[in-house]
Formats: sequence, C-alpha cells, structure tokens
Amino acid sequence: MKFISTRGGAPQLFSDVLLEGLAADGGLYVPEAYPQVSAADLACWRHILADEGYAGLAFQVLKLFIDDIPEDDLYDLCQAAYSSANFGSMDVVHVSQVEDELWLAHLSNGPTAAFKDMAMQLLGRLFEHELARRGTTLNVLGATSGDTGSAAEYALLGRAGVTVAMLTPAGRMSDFQQAQMYSIDDPAIANIAVDGVFDDCQDLVKAVNLDADFKAEHRIGAVNSINVARLLSQVVYAFAAYLQVSGDETTPIAFAVPTGNFGDIMSAYVAKRMGLPVGDLILATNENTVLAEFFATGIYRPRSAAATYATSSPSMDISKASNLERFIFDLVGREPQRAADLFGRQLVESGQFDLSGDPAFKTQRDTFGIIAGTSTHADRLATIKALWEAHGVLIDPHTADGVHVAQALRAAGATSGPVIAYETALPVKFSATIEEAIGQAPPTPPRFAGIEGAPRHVVPMPNDADALKAWLVDWLPVAAASE
Ligand SMILES: *Cc1c(COP(=O)(O)O)cnc(C)c1O
Repeated sequence: MKFISTRGGAPQLFSDVLLEGLAADGGLYVPEAYPQVSAADLACWRHILADEGYAGLAFQVLKLFIDDIPEDDLYDLCQAAYSSANFGSMDVVHVSQVEDELWLAHLSNGPTAAFKDMAMQLLGRLFEHELARRGTTLNVLGATSGDTGSAAEYALLGRAGVTVAMLTPAGRMSDFQQAQMYSIDDPAIANIAVDGVFDDCQDLVKAVNLDADFKAEHRIGAVNSINVARLLSQVVYAFAAYLQVSGDETTPIAFAVPTGNFGDIMSAYVAKRMGLPVGDLILATNENTVLAEFFATGIYRPRSAAATYATSSPSMDISKASNLERFIFDLVGREPQRAADLFGRQLVESGQFDLSGDPAFKTQRDTFGIIAGTSTHADRLATIKALWEAHGVLIDPHTADGVHVAQALRAAGATSGPVIAYETALPVKFSATIEEAIGQAPPTPPRFAGIEGAPRHVVPMPNDADALKAWLVDWLPVAAASE
C-alpha cells in the first residue's frame, strides 16, 4: 500500500509519511485505495475481537494499510498501545445501548479521557519504532488548548528518542485539563504556560518552525492533526463498534460524530468505503457551523480564529477543518488538480470555494452518506439532562452535540434506523457544563482521583519566540540526556 497526496505528489510508503504532516505539495496523504472487506472478513473479525480483544482487531485492520512495518512489530505495537493498562480493558472500546435505536461507542477510556488517546497511543509507539529504525530522534513542539496536547504527552511519555515541549495558554484551560498535563513529572516532557491565548501559542510554534536552521539543528517535529496514522488508527473503532452492535454483517447502521477538524468522521467514512455497512454519517457541529453550512450549501467558507466562537464543546471550536481536503479529494473523483485548485488556489485567493453546482456534491448523500446538523449550548444542556434523567446516562458536551443532531435529524425524518454515537470525552473533563445541565458535578473516575491536588510542573514563558528558542536550547540537551 502506498500513500498519495491529495494534490498529486508521488506515492510514498507508510514509514515515509508517518513522521510528516503535510505532503511537500501542500496536500494531505491518503491511502492510494481503500482495502475491501467482505461480510466473511467481518465475521472473522468478530471472532478476533472476541478472542484477542481490540488490539487483535486493530492489527487486522492496520495491516491492510501498513505493509512496510514487519507484521510481528506491528502486532506488538498494537498490543502495547491497546492494552488494558492503557484503556482499562481488553475491549478498549465498548458500546452501550441508551435507548431503542441509539448506542454510544465509548472512545474515552484512555489516559486522558478523550478519544484522541485512541490514535495517539498507537502514534507514539509508531514514532518510537520508526525513529529507532532510522537511528534518529525527534523533539515534538506543539500548542494545545486542551485535549490534543495532553493526549500527545501521555502517548509520548516514556517513548525512546522523543521529547515533548507543549505550549498552553496560561490560565485558560479547565482545571482538570491543567492538572492532567501539569502533573506529568518527566524530564523529557515540558509544559510551557505562555502569557497569551491559544493563537499566540500556535504562532510561537510557527515562528520556531519558520527558522529552518533552528528547526533542523534541533530536530523539531510535530504530532500533527492531519497525520495519516491518526486517521488509520481511528478507522479501527468503527469496525469494533459496529461488530458489537450488529448481530450480522450486513445491516446498515448510522454513525453520529461530533466534528471539529473532520478527523473522526473521516475515519468512519473510510470504514464505510472499506465495506463496513455504515448507513448515514451524521456530522454534528456546535455553534461553529462551517461544516454544516458546507454540507447544506456546497459552499466551504472557513472562518478566521477571531470569528470562531468559544463554546461549551470547546474541542469543536474550529475555524477550518484541517482534514476536509481528504474527503473533498474523493468527492471530486480523486483528481489532484481539482483538490489543488480548490484548496491551494480558490481558498487562498478568495477564502472560500463553491461546489454547489457540482454533480458529485448534489449526489453526495447517496454516494458518501454524509448528513449534517448543528447543536447549540441549549441543545447540549437539554440532551445531557434528558439522557441523565431518562436513562441515568451521563455524557459530555461534545457527545451531546452528536446525540442531539442524530435525534433532531431523526425527528425531522431525515434519517432513520439504528445509530451509533461516538462518545468523544468523559464528562469529568467538562464539569462546569455538566453542573449547569444536571445541577451536580460529574463523577471522577478512580484513575483520576486526586489529580487536581498533584504537584504541577510548568514553565512560565513570555509570548516571545526568541525567549522560547533560548529556553529550548537549554532544555533540549537535558531532556535528551534523560532518555
Ligand atoms: C477533537 C475532539 C472532537 C472533534 O474531533 P475531530 O476529529 O476534530 O472532528 C470532538 N470531541 C472531542 C472531545 C474532541 O477532543
């Protein structure tokens, strides 16, 4: 299996794209074809999931895409990533039925209580494996407003050859999120609290990366949200969830996915393209409605960071959906010139593109199955409360967006039949909104007990790229020596 760029760059092996973000031509890597899975394969995977747990299924799915890592190694990496030590059970992802035709797929059982762990735990180990093979090291420099940074730190903690310096906006994350990151006590992991907002943190990362000499000399890298390995690892749980809900291998089941960067729903879409009987792909946005607008009108118009609302489902507060180009590439018939024109020219020149007149867009729902809707603060509060009062089930605000949109579309007659909603975080991460919805705080899972009181390790930093670079020059050798 080779990986191609959406903008036409030459095919690459998995190990060559693993450590990269964007392709050299500015496109995103996608598999050159979707491996096909038959009903008989699914029946076989059902047994593997039951006998070997999630790690066994992950190996089956991933080896269809990754054939340049020795199978034994890939198997071991899957076992190490998807262990009961990391995810609380061999199942890793279990499903629970909420009501007649609604299930939750629990993707938040990892170290940081959000689904980002599902990809990151494998990615950290793939990085370690590839860096060792190349005999080199990598210093990850990132910025986070919450979920991604902590998932990356917990995934890279203890991985040989990798250090992590993560910028956070000082005082602007939830107390739980701060506790989760700052309680890490490891010489190869640094939390940096920047005197500024999240955009300032991102700008600092950009500034360091723009200094090509500094970047090369200090081997600065990233754990990118568009990394193709993240996408592939997320495909696995669509299969795991389906096989636990459906008694057969042919009944279509819809998936409801709270969406920000279009990563999670893209992975469910890939599973569908591989032959999993996925019905509708229900895309939920919050008040930041860029994607719902696109699927309703064909016009994609990303917003500036300043025009992005801060909502109570903060991990979906996106101004542009960094994974969308992968889907559009398929929509336009995998023609790289079209993807390059839309994303490389039209978006850059006029800040938007319009596919409303494109026949492929008009038939998108039939061919690809995406149907979108939006959810507001009031919707998510009402959904959290309703599930809590009717069923004793407590969901986080992001998951509530997905459930709300699925229920609203069903009530409008726009979709029908069984739905699996992705549970993307645990309520404990967003306790203020939970309290607002149900009048009490969410429970703290035992594994997080006492985390808020643990000693915190964080470096204060002015909003200044030179200060950051000077600090890195001192810190990196110490961090590397500790490995
Ligand atoms: C990242 C995140 C999302 C959005 O996922 P995308 O892949 O960016 O669409 C939804 N919910 C939670 C809790 C998240 O952390």
